[in-house]
Amino acid sequence: MKIKTPLTELKLSVPAQETPISSFLTASGTFCDGDLLLNQKGLRLMSDEKESRPSEGKELDFEITPADLESVKVIGKGNGGVVQLVRHKWDGKLFAMKVIQMNIQEEIRKQIVQELIINQASQCPHVVVCYQSFYHNGAFSLVLEYMDRGSLADVIKQVKTILEPYLAVACKQVLQGLVYLHNERHVIHRDIKPSNLLVNHKGEVKISDFGVSASLASSMGQRDTFVGTYNYMSPERISGSTYEYSSDIWSLGLSVLECAIGRFPYLQSEDQENSPSFYELLAAIVESPPPTAPPNQFSPEFCSFVSACIQKDPRDRSSSLDLLRHPFIKKFEDKDIDLGILVGSLEPPVNYPR
Ligand code: ATP
Ligand code: MG
Repeated sequence: MKIKTPLTELKLSVPAQETPISSFLTASGTFCDGDLLLNQKGLRLMSDEKESRPSEGKELDFEITPADLESVKVIGKGNGGVVQLVRHKWDGKLFAMKVIQMNIQEEIRKQIVQELIINQASQCPHVVVCYQSFYHNGAFSLVLEYMDRGSLADVIKQVKTILEPYLAVACKQVLQGLVYLHNERHVIHRDIKPSNLLVNHKGEVKISDFGVSASLASSMGQRDTFVGTYNYMSPERISGSTYEYSSDIWSLGLSVLECAIGRFPYLQSEDQENSPSFYELLAAIVESPPPTAPPNQFSPEFCSFVSACIQKDPRDRSSSLDLLRHPFIKKFEDKDIDLGILVGSLEPPVNYPR
């Protein structure tokens, strides 16, 4: 038997103009109202996607343009440029935006943006995600995953030294990032140092600036032009020879040792502000014996880990995969050590103005 549904009048309500249309129509043409998202990929409901917040390193579902972002504050300053905390206007999500001022020809900058996009399509939870890069107002802007506790360099400014258990937990995550870069992406990071190892309040540690200096420099035909510091360069690299993945392992070893002893391991100067000249550094790295962890202050596992990384002959250094299995990493693996407790108690870094 067929039941007839009585026809009812369907009422469509038009929202009152309390919310201006521009508040949910972004500059990139994404329309958003409540759970509803309409963009170039079509129409979708966002309600099941609360888990995949972009600030937690997942893929973004929408394009970001400079006009969609508002600046909150400057959170860092490096050799290459300024890092700002920015908020996406329509959904409030936070990102870190690194702005590198560079006035160059259109052809070259298109090539650079292209290379940055390819280089930064990261599929690893221990490599900072770069969501978007664009050239705008004479500068490259990289929209990055925001790591709310800054870098390990910021952490040691506050706590002075990091204890072995926390270091092991941080180091394991950096090694997982390096295994991904070396064994899956087949790339050398080239700029491993404490300020490129970022942390968040959950105690996650991620490698940043992957591909940035390499993309900018290689597109301009000058590989090392954008390197901010020579401090962490391996002997073979600082002396201009060819270098391999093992060059990143040297830099990792120096960074870990620095976090443990609270100062850069080479050429300790009374005056910490006066960093060594390039030639002093070159001589120290190439000619003097490599730095080690003092055995009277650190465990044998830690000392062994550091010297597995800081070997002058690159063939004597362990690989990232081997280091993941090193006794120093294994020792704290099932001890339930929460790096989030250490960094959670710290003030969010304020690097700039210094
Ligand atoms: P260089 O310019 O030589 O790479 P650097 O790594 O110190 O030096 P930046 O990469 O510009 O310079 O970073 C400067 C600071 O900005 C970092 O130390 C960190 O405190 C902050 N920062 C960078 N990226 C992020 C991010 N994704 N999330 C949160 N803070 C960040
Ligand atoms: Mg950096």
